[in-house]
Amino acid sequence: ISAWSSVPAGPPDPILGVTEAFKADKDPRKINLGVGAYRDGQGKPYVLDCVKKAESFIEASKPDKEYLPITGLAEFTKNAVKLAYGVDSAPLKDGSIAATQSISGTGALRIGAAFLARHYPHAKVVYLPDPSWGNHTPIFRDSGFEVRKYGYFDPATLGLNFEALKADLLTNAPEHSVVLLHACAHNPTGIDPTPEQWAEISDICKERKLFPFFDMAYQGFASGSTSRDAFAVRHFVSQGHQIALAQSFAKNMGLYGERVGAFSLLTADPEEKARVDSQLKIVIRPMYSNPPSHGARIANTILSNEELYAEWESEVKGMADRIITMREKLYNILTNDLKTPGEWGHIKSQIGMFSFTGLKKEQTVALANKAHVYMTADGRISMAGLNGNNITYFAESVDGAVR
Ligand code: PMP
Repeated sequence: ISAWSSVPAGPPDPILGVTEAFKADKDPRKINLGVGAYRDGQGKPYVLDCVKKAESFIEASKPDKEYLPITGLAEFTKNAVKLAYGVDSAPLKDGSIAATQSISGTGALRIGAAFLARHYPHAKVVYLPDPSWGNHTPIFRDSGFEVRKYGYFDPATLGLNFEALKADLLTNAPEHSVVLLHACAHNPTGIDPTPEQWAEISDICKERKLFPFFDMAYQGFASGSTSRDAFAVRHFVSQGHQIALAQSFAKNMGLYGERVGAFSLLTADPEEKARVDSQLKIVIRPMYSNPPSHGARIANTILSNEELYAEWESEVKGMADRIITMREKLYNILTNDLKTPGEWGHIKSQIGMFSFTGLKKEQTVALANKAHVYMTADGRISMAGLNGNNITYFAESVDGAVR
């Protein structure tokens, strides 16, 4: 008898399952809006020019294939942290930010959760926004956390339910709970707090002694500006919060499969930072020993070369702007051309790669079966999957599904 005879079949991944169905569909009009990866105006994956140039510089320097240290390429983490916290950040200048390279954003979250599970001196309870990125729950649960939710999305307004958020953080979450915050371009809703609301959330976290754990998977991708998108992180730091931060370069540099990210923690001073750094190594070493080098070299080359950095900023803005243009186009076709029933303003006001359309599960199923249009069952669409060639067909299909 096989050792695995009683292993139950698990459910398919809610996002990768959409891609499989899309691949199996032979209709030429098919559209995949499930996957959270940027596509250019022709619907093709996009390798940034600054990335190609960085790779040619790296190749010319003929690097060896030696192991990186446990916490990765030190120059890369230094530059990644500078990008997030800002050059003028006080803890950066003090040398009190502990940081490590990570296997993209997912790995950063996992290192952070594992470190907190071992060293956070309070109950291991994390509050996630409702809804949140689907992988947050298993990442924290598998790291030993109890996972709870705080109010975030209001289905009635398709906007932020700020009252529920405040009530949950002020009264329902016990003191010292960990609170996961999407730094910008909330996934899946595309709804971010305003700067004033962020300031209130920061005050609540202080009053209730909540520990802010930021997930910044889209810096630059929301507004087109990396510093504007870092507002929440920098505000919390300026208010004296000891934050944790997971960074990803998957989206903003288009380095998805290269798995480039960073995890960082604010500490009291350089001496404490050294102790925390030593424990980060002890968390990471038995997980994967040390991270891959190529992606970190690419990101570091871009972040440390003035010309490539400027080119990168304009390419990030180009991606963000194309998505914003698609939002306006889709809104105009639905509202003005097709007079589709319903209110579609949220398509324009939502931020980042995704739009939470408000389409119901049955409508998403009908769109897949009848119109060959694929999205996740919660009605989330990746705006980056839309382009001049397919947006009218998509809008007409939505119109058909809601009438
Ligand atoms: N956090 C959020 C909110 C995300 O949307 C993603 C990507 N889908 C990630 C983290 C991590 O992605 P990666 O591991 O590819 O950097």
